[in-house]
Amino acid sequence: IACTGNPQYNADGIFKGYIGACVDITEQKQLQQQKDEFIGVASHELKTPVTSVKAYAQVLQAIFNREGDEKKAAMLGKMNSQIDRLTSLIGDLLDVTKIQSGRLQFNDDYIDFNKLITELTEDLQRTTTKHQIITELHPTGIAYADKDRIGQVITNLISNAIKYSPNANKVIVNTSIENNEILLCVQDFGIGISADKKDKVFEQFYRVSGDKQHTFPGLGLGLYISSEIIKREGGRIWVNSVEGEGSTFCFALPLNS
Ligand code: ADP
Repeated sequence: IACTGNPQYNADGIFKGYIGACVDITEQKQLQQQKDEFIGVASHELKTPVTSVKAYAQVLQAIFNREGDEKKAAMLGKMNSQIDRLTSLIGDLLDVTKIQSGRLQFNDDYIDFNKLITELTEDLQRTTTKHQIITELHPTGIAYADKDRIGQVITNLISNAIKYSPNANKVIVNTSIENNEILLCVQDFGIGISADKKDKVFEQFYRVSGDKQHTFPGLGLGLYISSEIIKREGGRIWVNSVEGEGSTFCFALPLNS
């Protein structure tokens, strides 16, 4: 049962009672639960064949490379990157069901933050020829958090910066320490986000709508998952943005000193 109501006062400001309404939401809750379970099972089932297809595609690409058949190797390369995209979409759906059922696991350990950024930016630089990923790394010390999960957040922020700045040629990744927190900011010079939508982008399935956005693929889950991860690690995540000029997404994690 879900109830909403308002306190009622008489002319002298004396409390008289509540007026409200209660609705039985059992069916609604059951439907939501069924939907969550379906997403969980469906994404789990999709994962197995996709992993297998990826393995075969990689073997084929290696064979064509060895035989010097550049055309076929390039086609298999494109196929592999599309399979990676599919894997990451399925991973996002699985993560959402894990968050909702409280099963998102964290294996916290000491992380050399700047080293992690360097590794990830090298990988991500290979995904774009248009953008230069510039790193401005200042000493950050050690964080105590789940390296893969934090890596997932950083990858998400940098990939978004690239995706939502199709006419720009650089993305800046900056790290620092401020007030006993490790700070990471990813700045892009892309489409930006209007002030009224800035906080909504961290909500589940939220995607900014509008003509300009149509060309950008996605499910609207990356930032939701990222913000859940950062919150669980005791940190904060936010964005500063000017529509038409670009965005700076930042997160702060407690410093492990
Ligand atoms: P997705 O990119 O799959 O839609 P996200 O959760 O990562 O999902 O982002 C949610 C929405 O926030 C995006 O659809 C987009 O409208 C907006 N957004 C995210 N990052 C940026 C960015 N760097 N610049 C402009 N808009 C962004």
